[in-house]
Amino acid sequence: MGNILDGKAIAEKVRAEVRADVTSFVAEHGRAPGLTVVLVGEDPASVVYTRNKEKSAKECGIAGTLLRLPADTPEAEVLALVAKLNGDDAVDGILVQLPLPRHVREAEVLRAIDPDKDVDGFHALNAGRLATGQPALVPCTPTGCMRLIAESGVELAGARAVVVGRSNIVGKPMAQLLLAKHATVTIAHSRTRDLPAVCREADVLVAAVGRAEMVRGDWVKPGAVVIDVGINRDTNGKLVGDVAFAEARERASWITPVPGGVGPMTIACLLANTVAAARARTAARRGLRERPGQRGLHGGARR
Ligand code: NDP
Repeated sequence: MGNILDGKAIAEKVRAEVRADVTSFVAEHGRAPGLTVVLVGEDPASVVYTRNKEKSAKECGIAGTLLRLPADTPEAEVLALVAKLNGDDAVDGILVQLPLPRHVREAEVLRAIDPDKDVDGFHALNAGRLATGQPALVPCTPTGCMRLIAESGVELAGARAVVVGRSNIVGKPMAQLLLAKHATVTIAHSRTRDLPAVCREADVLVAAVGRAEMVRGDWVKPGAVVIDVGINRDTNGKLVGDVAFAEARERASWITPVPGGVGPMTIACLLANTVAAARARTAARRGLRERPGQRGLHGGARR
């Protein structure tokens, strides 16, 4: 029976590291790193997420601010706010909560964020930096998954890794991070033929699909590390992942539960990205040419 990768406990370790890093940043620079979260509208889940982000930032000593705009705010006003935050020296990280109301184009807003303040890592420049092995601000969920994989102690160099899901925010950056650690990576998706057979090859299996308990126990190679990103409700309304946990645990060496696995890591990694962005911006001003991510959890995709 596989061991549980306890995301709550590991996220607490990451937060402790962030608190220590914030303390030394304040001592060095006389100010706290700043994170501004922008919420447009009243989506109930987004209201909870953004409040948590602001609160968690403050708990770590980061100057967290939540700016709320009404749902009918014109796109031009959202872009104007982003431009103002880009120019505000006290703001190191900008996060615009998704989804945005329909009349506001997500791509336009993400493109407007200063890539060096893009703590969600969704800007195309950061995706490109990651893909080309340059230090980057990397999306928080895959960053958290990498930390969980590291805690399992599995050797990634030369290992077979399978990522199920190819979204820009989870699947693709996850695959890039595994590749940067020298895994042999397969990205599977809805058109993949014989998905169970593909998954059975994986020493490290990451499921980021959004389908309740799709990955069955017999898809898991004995001894594999299984990371379950999915957050779904089953037919009884219970919170479950993309992996049939009890079955998969029989074969895995390590496995993340849902809830309490990947979920808690995401905000912890957002806080780490904020401090990394603050340090990189400060260093860049000093002419050291340091880029965001160099002091982050992974140091970008450096080889
Ligand atoms: P998307 O819907 O953007 O992507 C889902 C991916 O899964 C797509 O690439 C899709 O393939 C693939 N897929 C869908 N059905 C199948 C199938 N039957 N077989 C194989 N692949 C399939 O989702 P996200 O990446 O945004 O999120 C994935 C999951 O992770 C969701 O449950 C989400 O709630 C959760 N999540 C959790 C976070 C956390 O903090 N724990 C953070 C972010 C997401 P195709 O491209 O071919 O359509």
